[in-house]
Amino acid sequence: MNQIVAFLLVSLFSMMFIPATGVAFVRSTASGGGPPAFWPNAQTSLNLQLGCPTNGPLPSWGPCWDDAATDAALHWHPPTTRFRFFVQSPSVLATPCGSDGQQTLAFQSSFCGLSFGNAVAVTIFLINSTTGELVEADTLFDANRSWTTYAGPLQTDGVGNVRYDFHRVAIHELGHVLGLDHPDDFGQSVQAIMNRRVSNLDTTQADDIAGVSAIYPGASTPSLGALENPKPGSFTSGIGTISGWVCSANRIDLQVDGSIVVQSPYGSLRGDTQGVCGDANNGFGYLVNWNDLGPGQHTLVALADGVEFARATFTVSTFGGSFVTGASGTYTVPFNGHNVTIQWQESLQNFVIRGIE
Ligand SMILES: [Zn+2]
Repeated sequence: MNQIVAFLLVSLFSMMFIPATGVAFVRSTASGGGPPAFWPNAQTSLNLQLGCPTNGPLPSWGPCWDDAATDAALHWHPPTTRFRFFVQSPSVLATPCGSDGQQTLAFQSSFCGLSFGNAVAVTIFLINSTTGELVEADTLFDANRSWTTYAGPLQTDGVGNVRYDFHRVAIHELGHVLGLDHPDDFGQSVQAIMNRRVSNLDTTQADDIAGVSAIYPGASTPSLGALENPKPGSFTSGIGTISGWVCSANRIDLQVDGSIVVQSPYGSLRGDTQGVCGDANNGFGYLVNWNDLGPGQHTLVALADGVEFARATFTVSTFGGSFVTGASGTYTVPFNGHNVTIQWQESLQNFVIRGIE
């Protein structure tokens, strides 16, 4: 039987700065030793329960704490690794202190009933000590601290207290979630966001990237597939579907504008792909109200098991709101040698062809 043990990682905070010398990332193991930690399939979901600040939008990476955490996760996605975080949408109410299969990030006033002590945030994870497979990881941020967001050197307030940059602490804790430990706890002296002490470093360093790339090396070969809607350079509006097909994958994820990630339903019948794929259950489709993205240009990246297989930049047009109600109109326009009658259809938030003469 595999033994599952909890292992605790704590981020302390100090003004110490550790200079760079060489490359020396360290992988996490269970507390008694054992094989280094990793997520099966090189991916894990994040359940963001951080909410929004009560005193207005964040200065950077906002407006909400969840947005800053989503951006922080992207700093662990260089092309040299196939590892990917996925943000669950919608998130679910969950406690980071329990074992519930969720990777929850949340502010907490205590460390599961204990004091945070010097720690500004804590990541707890469950690991299979026989195989090193990670089972669950939860991150708690000390709600009693004064948090904000900013890039660059550490800032202090007028009386010398440090203003905590949530973004860099989130990057550090997500490094724990994916399986990295503190280099400076293992006698290393290296420039890394994964050092135990928060510093002037505000993002991942070469050593950190070497770490994630060592655990989850190389980008996998993309699955054979296609994103059919929306097409690159196309225009879209109203209610529609992001759709296409992929021959083989455990999951399809859609990332919009580098941040929002949703998992797409996948596996509907597409007989036309039988010849290419050898089977037909390859379709994916995700219902979307384009109005919710807002007008202008957007980029959609489609991922099969965390590996990009297609992307499209397209333009959304809206009437300004999320859903137009009470509008109507019928128009006849010349098109392709015919007089075509189009009519507004509220349920589609779009015009449909009513007649062709
Ligand atoms: Zn740490």
